[in-house]
Amino acid sequence: MGFRRPLDSLLDQLQPEGGANTSRPLVPVLMPVALDQTYDYLLPEGFEVVPGAFVLVPFGAQTRIGVIWDEPRGPQKPLKPEKIKALTSVLDVPALPMASLRFAEWIARYTLAPLGMVARMMMSASSAFEPEKPRFGVRLVEGAPPPARLSEARVRALDLAADGLIRAKAELANLAFCSNAVIDGLVKSGNLVEVAIPDRGFARPNPAHHATGFSEDQAQAVHALRAAVDGDVFSATLLDGVTGSGKTEVYFEAVARALEHDRQALIMLPEIALTSQFLDRFERRFGVKPVEWHSALSPAERGRVWKGVARGDVRVVVGARSALFLPFPALGLIIVDEEHDQGYKQDDRVHYQGRDMCVVRANLGKFPIVLASATPSIESHVNALTGRYRHVVLKGRFSGAELPDVGAIDLKREGPEQGKWLAPRLVEAMTETLAKGQQSLLFLNRRGYAPLTLCRSCGHRLECPQCSAWLVEHRFRKRLNCHHCGFSIALPEKCPKCGALDSLVACGPGVERVAEEVSERFPEARVALLSSDLIPGLAEMRDMIHRIEAGEIDIIIGTQIVAKGHHFPDLALVGVVDGDLGLSHGADPRAGERTFQLLHQVTGRAGRALAEGRGLVQTHMPEHPIMQAIVAGDREAFLNYEVKTRQQGMLPPYGRLAALIVSARDKDLAERTAREVARCAPQSEKISVLGPVEAPIAVVRGRYRWRLLVKAPRDLDIQAFLRAWSAALPPFKGDVRVTLDIDPYSFL
Ligand code: ADP
Ligand code: ZN
Repeated sequence: MGFRRPLDSLLDQLQPEGGANTSRPLVPVLMPVALDQTYDYLLPEGFEVVPGAFVLVPFGAQTRIGVIWDEPRGPQKPLKPEKIKALTSVLDVPALPMASLRFAEWIARYTLAPLGMVARMMMSASSAFEPEKPRFGVRLVEGAPPPARLSEARVRALDLAADGLIRAKAELANLAFCSNAVIDGLVKSGNLVEVAIPDRGFARPNPAHHATGFSEDQAQAVHALRAAVDGDVFSATLLDGVTGSGKTEVYFEAVARALEHDRQALIMLPEIALTSQFLDRFERRFGVKPVEWHSALSPAERGRVWKGVARGDVRVVVGARSALFLPFPALGLIIVDEEHDQGYKQDDRVHYQGRDMCVVRANLGKFPIVLASATPSIESHVNALTGRYRHVVLKGRFSGAELPDVGAIDLKREGPEQGKWLAPRLVEAMTETLAKGQQSLLFLNRRGYAPLTLCRSCGHRLECPQCSAWLVEHRFRKRLNCHHCGFSIALPEKCPKCGALDSLVACGPGVERVAEEVSERFPEARVALLSSDLIPGLAEMRDMIHRIEAGEIDIIIGTQIVAKGHHFPDLALVGVVDGDLGLSHGADPRAGERTFQLLHQVTGRAGRALAEGRGLVQTHMPEHPIMQAIVAGDREAFLNYEVKTRQQGMLPPYGRLAALIVSARDKDLAERTAREVARCAPQSEKISVLGPVEAPIAVVRGRYRWRLLVKAPRDLDIQAFLRAWSAALPPFKGDVRVTLDIDPYSFL
């Protein structure tokens, strides 16, 4: 069966009545909704379509955008001919490439998400589907007589426009410090004229713009990556080297090679690593800034980039997770930088691991992928060990700088005084660093002022009314926030339970509280506090990073947004306020890995350009094998320990996991359903189902949550098991929701 079938063939299966339409073809259309099948539509006479084309179709009571698929998918119930509707129109938008169709099917099969929801992610640029609106700007009319009334604002605007450039009205108004009305007035008086702003297009990165000289080590890595691109077949390479070893410089050469072969390239970065520093480096190498794709783009910009990629005008995209779903017609290389980063896992609607899906995309497209990291995920590390991935290693830092000396501060023996969070030895090191005019960074992966507020009189703990979680004090904003649902109240003056005045006390530190202690201890120091809730957007974040780079800051305090992607030349000391934060979650098989990666990356920020750097980790468990590996800078020791742990526990990548989360507003209903779901599990000798257990965060947004965990050996088809399971489930009562998460990364 092809994507275009005569209606007759279908009619034969029904009553042999026939109608006026019998000679017209049917096409399968996929709708971007939570449905796992295509629907047939009649193709009206004179319509030309190809698979992947975007079309408008009547869908229920609405007219919606769908995608022509090349084959019917999912259960196909024969429709009565009079029920079959015709396409409304074909949109003037580039069709999805066939690779995207195959990719969508693969993801749907793997994640068990409806195909329509995957297609929806590929269409997440609604303005691309709207008719292109030409943008208008204004330009000076030369030789026009001056306006009758020449106010100062008008003079400023006309002076600026004297260069003859076309500018958006708002832009000119901004530059001239006047209102849009002033500009409108000048249009009326005939001194400015409205003209369409020509589309800027996309500048092409030039692979030969700047030649980098490489060290011997690097040159070998460059050679390996270039060879992979030349090979023009699927290959996966783990590019493994400490921070500062030149991984970025090296993989830029692979990108250059892909460009030389006239292919598109995608560089994936964790969202918070999309710094201007990175864009500048790209520009230095390729002569132009790369095209960005992330959540901070305006809807119009999203549409423009989406189309630019689809038409092949955009050659290199630097993007966060969702860039993977852009409609590249000629993709020839994917780089996943910081491949270990948990931010690649999406835990919303379609649960997918972006890094793994990149490997799938490369495999389907038959081109190479490069995974880069200083602290590879255990999954990628094992793939490199077994030879499934090529392993390219960069030893040592390019600058020759040594990796920082890392020491542990045992909080049981040499902890801070009561009510303080920085141990004497850390304070001493900060004092020395400040005296030398160098920078210190304090890392604490906890936003806000204090993670818990309680009443001194009655012992009441302030909890979120919708979640089983403590409210986190944000003193800067004078509020208590829930970090799970966004619930927020003003900091109360009295205890909501017993009414005692001024009895609420903050327990434990968040970054704001550490900042407070730093200001007390170092009143003369210039302090920057970096936390996602305190920085309004990417632009402000980039601005702050610039100030740090320029040496305008002495002490940086931050959550994990400081851990990644930045290069602070004057940074000499990194202090980790609570090194144990990540090690406490019992159920999470990646807790150890995450702790090692984070602490290694954070402490690795120190001394990247200086002769020496130092890291100090405050911990209650200096004897823990992972803490010892961090202190010793012994990555191999960590990897060996972790690989053994995973092997013994049959955990990823030695086994497969899937999580089912059952939730409902009613506590009993949630529990009863979870138990019923467990009873319906197919019998299997090799696959085990654990639980149900109440989720560690038992209530989120007022919904009670129960978890089940499926464990399967690596070579078993866990999807088939789950499909059989879900087919055996009875219909759910009330508002019960069952979420399926293949390869879960969150166990809360
Ligand atoms: P990584 O990605 O491994 O952290 P980078 O590529 O960011 O390493 O390199 C670290 C620093 O060293 C950067 O400032 C980079 O410009 C510089 N560097 C690395 N390799 C070279 C090279 N071959 N020539 C010039 N500078 C280099
Ligand atoms: Zn909440």
